[in-house]
Amino acid sequence: MINLKKIPSIDEILTQEEILQLITRYKRDFVVETARTIVAEIREELRSVTEEIDKMVVFNNIVEKIKSKAESSNAGTLQRVINGTGVVLHTNLGRAPLAERAINHMQDIGRSYNNLEMDLDKGERGSRYYHVEDLLIRLTGADAALVVNNNAAAVMLGLTTLAAGKEVIVSRGQLVEIGGAFRIPEVMKLSGARLVEVGTTNKTYVSDYDQAINNDTALLFSAHTSNYQIIGFTSEVSMKELVSLGKEKGLPVFMDLGSGILTTLDDGGLSAEPTVQECVKAGADIITFSGDKMLGGPQAGIIVGKKEYIDRMKKNQLLRALRVDKLILSALEGTLLEYLSGHPRQNIPIIRMLSYSREQMEDRAENLLRLMEARLKDSNTQHAIRLVALEDMIGGGAYPNYKLPGVGVEIEFEDISLEKAAKELRLRNPALVARRQDNKMLISVRTLLPGDEQEIIEMIAGLGDR
Ligand SMILES: *Cc1c(COP(=O)(O)O)cnc(C)c1O
Repeated sequence: MINLKKIPSIDEILTQEEILQLITRYKRDFVVETARTIVAEIREELRSVTEEIDKMVVFNNIVEKIKSKAESSNAGTLQRVINGTGVVLHTNLGRAPLAERAINHMQDIGRSYNNLEMDLDKGERGSRYYHVEDLLIRLTGADAALVVNNNAAAVMLGLTTLAAGKEVIVSRGQLVEIGGAFRIPEVMKLSGARLVEVGTTNKTYVSDYDQAINNDTALLFSAHTSNYQIIGFTSEVSMKELVSLGKEKGLPVFMDLGSGILTTLDDGGLSAEPTVQECVKAGADIITFSGDKMLGGPQAGIIVGKKEYIDRMKKNQLLRALRVDKLILSALEGTLLEYLSGHPRQNIPIIRMLSYSREQMEDRAENLLRLMEARLKDSNTQHAIRLVALEDMIGGGAYPNYKLPGVGVEIEFEDISLEKAAKELRLRNPALVARRQDNKMLISVRTLLPGDEQEIIEMIAGLGDR
């Protein structure tokens, strides 16, 4: 408490030369507000300090902190994060990092004028929806395609166009399984369609759908959930059975695939998941999926299917509110071109991360461990570092219970609390977000991008320096 009276007043601080310079660069109100916040923080810190601190030291410390806070706020709030969590599609961390081809295309288009809505052949107004449609048709085998803001928007547009005021039949089991982040019943309500639930939470048969069909039925709806999530005695109707019932009754089948996979993966379990092409082949009439889940592109909702239904969606006025911009379209186009004529396994970060072999991950983790040990030998803080087997995840609401075997590095800090170390690493730019277990920090190598290792090592070496 003895130091509290050494805290300068806000007015005193504002007359200081460096602070005056800040005021000319940033707005005065902002600098005053920042000064108040810092003074409050320092007051809190000094409360528990028992030895006497020089008044000048307190003053300089406050000025330094105001400067650094003002300057860091000038960088905006969106920043790079190193993902050490092993969760490949982390919704909180922006889901899929983009392929170089997507980024390059987005830069070219973003920097200049472009033909977003111009038909250059005719010199007339064109449609923005024209751009990636052909690529999606070629990649999936569907008759037509349409891209909107995200998959929730795709489902909403599809339901409201094809089923407003009518009934949509859905299995109860699927409603439960994707209940978390994306609520089918709520989207259904907003779309104006009436939800008709059939079956029980664990068993639904094709006869359940059949019995629910009446003159008001507009659609048979199915939401894909991972095969790996079905635990115990469950039964869902296959796409084939649903399509054949739809054909017999003259009703379209709408499949919300959620995470659209365009390429088969070698990975042990995921190869059993249906690709978009397989769903098209099985005869689903409308298929929707996200651009930034397993596709590895930007946030988008992709709709592929029969032309007559897609054409109706294109005419819906709601499309105007769900439309994608040039940046999204260019990033998506770049990603799709990588699938069509490039090397998706190497060049689409998400696909690469999901295709790593155990040996590749072990090599990377061993390398990280070796470099880290060498660098940290003479750092201020003591650490115990070990190689560990981890459970990685796909994440992003896609295959929620599906675990991928991963490899990483475990760090036990000896003279800084894990809590404090984790927070300090999160507050760097780039930030490091890792997992914690017991009193250890776990960094999975699966989700690290090239070059991340070196940055992580320097960040950890610098812990406690500030
Ligand atoms: C993720 C997901 C959605 C929502 O997709 P967004 O692109 O996040 O809007 C909808 N349905 C299913 C089955 C999903 O997995």
